Amino acid sequence: MMTDNLFPMTFVVFDMEWNQPIPYIPSPIDPKILPGEIIDIGAVKVKMLSENEYELSRPFSVTIRPVYYRIMNKQVSKVINKSTDDLKSGMPFPDAIRSFMDWCGEDYVLCAWGDSDISILRSNLKIHGFSSEINDRFLDIQPLFGRVAENTSQQRSVAYAVDFYRIPQTDDFHSAERDAWYEARVLKESLIDYFAIRARGTETEQTFPNLRTYISNPNLTTQKKWKSEAFPTERAASAKALEEKMLCPICESDLFEEIRWFSSGHSFLSLWQCPTHGALSGRVRIKRTPKQEFYGSGQLRFVNGNAARYVREKWQEKNEKKEENKEVASECVKECDKL
Ligand SMILES: [Zn+2]
Repeated sequence: MMTDNLFPMTFVVFDMEWNQPIPYIPSPIDPKILPGEIIDIGAVKVKMLSENEYELSRPFSVTIRPVYYRIMNKQVSKVINKSTDDLKSGMPFPDAIRSFMDWCGEDYVLCAWGDSDISILRSNLKIHGFSSEINDRFLDIQPLFGRVAENTSQQRSVAYAVDFYRIPQTDDFHSAERDAWYEARVLKESLIDYFAIRARGTETEQTFPNLRTYISNPNLTTQKKWKSEAFPTERAASAKALEEKMLCPICESDLFEEIRWFSSGHSFLSLWQCPTHGALSGRVRIKRTPKQEFYGSGQLRFVNGNAARYVREKWQEKNEKKEENKEVASECVKECDKL
């Protein structure tokens, strides 16, 4: 039995609301740099005391006064039910983010539903002159829920997960605070399910990844890209592209090969581990030049548990097919010997 040695661990589940630029009003800032301006942060701490004991904190909540998108976008307003007047109250972002960080404390895993909150938070930090580095441990609750509750990699909404676990619905909170509270409840139920599946002992590390593999470092956005020379055939191009030496994009140390390159559809996939920085996936696509030659275009990037599982599943599918083909082939040989 593998030991997790995780207790006690604190998860900070956060959720944010953000306003968006209005299409027909000239934007004071490039929306590519600031796709959304945060106006509300809600969070709840989930303290894991043991596999079955969890403590949920009182919610944290802060309203933020936007400085770029000060007029309420109608589409956003429909979802979060706030008016332009509501945006005039609230704290400046720098004060709000400091009070949020203080509330988070020191040693925790940051959690959200999906990864859009992380990228919006990053763009808001940057625009206000803060470092865009955030907590180095992040867990996306959605793929964990998908795996432990339904064994699916299909994307589900928070509302779906709340229904699934029959979590009582209450209307006593503001939106970001309320969503964070629901997400915290879903996280708690998902963790209970996770440990129950582990305790059954019927799954291997390959089919049921350790909780740790769901936690990744969101600051590791560094990736490595490469291209082979052009060749007359696809085969030669892929052979050359797959020869690339795999080094960690951060520490440049040799990577441990978990799953060697294999073809999957129109790509080649592989899975690697850096002892310090975690799992990475490799992908090579074969592309065509205007002169009808071929080259391989490769990418190596850090992956979370869900993305790593995708590669493992593709590899398994491929092996199962291979086994089937082998059986068919040996049957044929037997039949031929009789003749
Ligand atoms: Zn490394």
